[in-house]
Amino acid sequence: MSESPAATESTTGPVIYRSGQEIECWLTDMDGVLVHENHPIAGAPELIQRWVDTSRRFLVLTNNSIYTPRDLSARLRSSGLSIPEENIWTSALATAVFIKDQMPGARAYVIGEAGLTTALHEAGLILTDQDPDYVVLGETRTYSFNAITTAIRLILGGARFIATNPDATGPSREGVLPATGAIAALITKATGREPYTIGKPNPMMFRSAMNQIDAHSETTAMIGDRMDTDIIAGMEAGLHTVLVLSGITQRQDISTYPFRPNQVVGSVAELLTQL
Ligand SMILES: [Mg+2]
Repeated sequence: MSESPAATESTTGPVIYRSGQEIECWLTDMDGVLVHENHPIAGAPELIQRWVDTSRRFLVLTNNSIYTPRDLSARLRSSGLSIPEENIWTSALATAVFIKDQMPGARAYVIGEAGLTTALHEAGLILTDQDPDYVVLGETRTYSFNAITTAIRLILGGARFIATNPDATGPSREGVLPATGAIAALITKATGREPYTIGKPNPMMFRSAMNQIDAHSETTAMIGDRMDTDIIAGMEAGLHTVLVLSGITQRQDISTYPFRPNQVVGSVAELLTQL
């Protein structure tokens, strides 16, 4: 594997620069970067604390649309990671911003949990099964045949189909769980209609996050553990990309992709020396 000048693996040195500019804002993935199976990854609590202490603008991104930022913040705190709720950005929030921009005051039929319904409510949408403009599918643990049937009929009747995230499965202690992408596939099979999907790897997730903290792509970095979601989407959004090897991607995997992160570190603990 040839070394690209864009890729650095230094673990010391000053603040990371990209195109000569200091990184001002940070976006980071959660699973595999900050937490792993309900335990904080080494360096993650310190990194978040450092960002908070230095008033750094940052958001922790998750494709999971089940929880509100407040609930997620509380769950993370019980796993030993303290992230203020205003620093959490979910695919549900990104979906709400997207629909609000596209059609203010739209009507939506929603399959999802409080994370999604709260976000859509706060964005001024009307949640209804009567003549909705959109069918919005999110993550839930209680999919019902009736709700899916309603969604299918509404889409066939002309409602636009949106999914919060493309993930086919999610983790649990007992094994994988079917996730939003799997249910979306069921609805697509029945309707012949593909959803527009908001979460990673759609750069829309990053754009809405950056708008939220008034970040600009030239001075924003994205930290992730997956080449096929975090890194590709960060690259396409024009961000400085940092791959951590504390999650899914192993060092030998990197060269199998036709794109590279700007920086590779073992874990976020290595970033502490650069802030
Ligand atoms: Mg991850």
